[in-house]
Amino acid sequence: MHDACGVVGVSFQEAGNVAKSIYYALYALQHRGQEAAGISVHDGKSIRTHRGMGLVSEVFDDAQISLLRGSVGIGHVRYPTTGRSCIENSQPLLVKYKDGAIAVAHNGNLVNSSQLREQLEQTGDIFYSTSDTEVIAHLFVRELLRHDLLEAVRALMHKIVGSYSLVFLMGDTVLGLRDPLGIKPLCFGKLDSGYVVASESVAVDTLNGCLVRDVKPGELIVLKQGEMKSYQLAHLPNPAHCVFEYIYFARPDSILDGRLIYDVRVNIGAKLAEEHPADADTVTPIPDSGITLAVGYHQRSCISYRECLMKNRYIGRTFIMPDQNMRETAVRLKMNTIRPNIEGHKLILVDDSIVRGTTSRRIVNMVRKAGAEAVHVRIGSPPILAPCYLGIDMASRDELIAAHKTIPGVEAVINADSLGYVSHKGLVDAIGIPAENLCMGCLTGVYPVEIPGEKCIATQTKLSEYIDSESLKGPA
Ligand code: AMP
Repeated sequence: MHDACGVVGVSFQEAGNVAKSIYYALYALQHRGQEAAGISVHDGKSIRTHRGMGLVSEVFDDAQISLLRGSVGIGHVRYPTTGRSCIENSQPLLVKYKDGAIAVAHNGNLVNSSQLREQLEQTGDIFYSTSDTEVIAHLFVRELLRHDLLEAVRALMHKIVGSYSLVFLMGDTVLGLRDPLGIKPLCFGKLDSGYVVASESVAVDTLNGCLVRDVKPGELIVLKQGEMKSYQLAHLPNPAHCVFEYIYFARPDSILDGRLIYDVRVNIGAKLAEEHPADADTVTPIPDSGITLAVGYHQRSCISYRECLMKNRYIGRTFIMPDQNMRETAVRLKMNTIRPNIEGHKLILVDDSIVRGTTSRRIVNMVRKAGAEAVHVRIGSPPILAPCYLGIDMASRDELIAAHKTIPGVEAVINADSLGYVSHKGLVDAIGIPAENLCMGCLTGVYPVEIPGEKCIATQTKLSEYIDSESLKGPA
């Protein structure tokens, strides 16, 4: 299952209502997941959890928040995935064992989860969900029964392969752990009275905190009674930060690995303008994903920026979809055209990515119908050729249009006058991180971890060698 999610953990120095802070942080991370939300807090004696399906605003109200008393806790928002959509798969996930209870929230995807699960099941473990987070929780408990905390985390890291930004709640302690490749983001910040660890810095901003830095790949952060300790448990030569976080997933006002996402996207837009100029009079985004890229294209090309499409942001989960013969109504309800900005104009239509090609085709046809004279589509990522196994819920290889068609082929399907994707080099330069420090699996088909049937970056096949292990140094 591919989980692109949002996680947060907060520890206050003094008694306080941590659930409220977590709730606000989850609101800031809502773009990372709209399917389910949950919060776990430790009230001094035990862990209380509230989880539900839907948006943060639908899952929590004042009464629920006030029941979650405590000064330390974690939270999670879950992305709609191709996996099973059910409450059992929502998080934080709580496991109880002989020495206590652990709540865990996970952003990422393990590539060896089914093998690990099979091994655990063979020795009697019983699973309640289909999520790989439960596999992590079971493995962690097993290691905690044999080792101290740090060694248990190291042992866990030796077993699980894939992307994981994890927050654990164990008694009065919050742990934040980022996988040795730093695939999914995780950062931490200082609050007036305590610390926060979160998927994106917008959560730190929302709590009026101060971003300290990203959690390093392979680093464990321990927050206890408002104090922070850090342990570097793995030392890989190259990280593999997810390129799609920069292109699409993270919010433009977040700072990832020291870079403001807004600036990165303006840079990508500028690269697009250099690499793919067009005879046009208007640069316009597909909202919201194309907005910052279009700003960059406009600034570099000096072609006017005009909004031509308006998105309705209030179509929630409970919206009753019109039936087949009202399809057109449904489409127009989601996105409408600003006709005078389109009629007789030559447009440069900018978006972040083409996955199946449905969005681009639909919108090109929509602006043509509204009278566009020409539609030049510009895309802020190179063609998406291969599936993501590491946490972005994209599509299978069969569904990816660029896996089966050439660029002129895609151009024809989406009915554009011209189609330009940013180049690999343009993208990497715009981000400002060397290509060897990025995961570009979806753009190259070469992954930073071993996946059966897929190509792997040669230097990354011995991941385990770079993870510390005290117990491997001498007899246990
Ligand atoms: P498609 O219509 O399948 O070509 O998808 C492309 C559109 O989906 C673009 O407008 C993107 O902004 C958006 N998109 C790309 N990746 C994702 C994702 N993982 N989840 C949701 N939307 C996405």
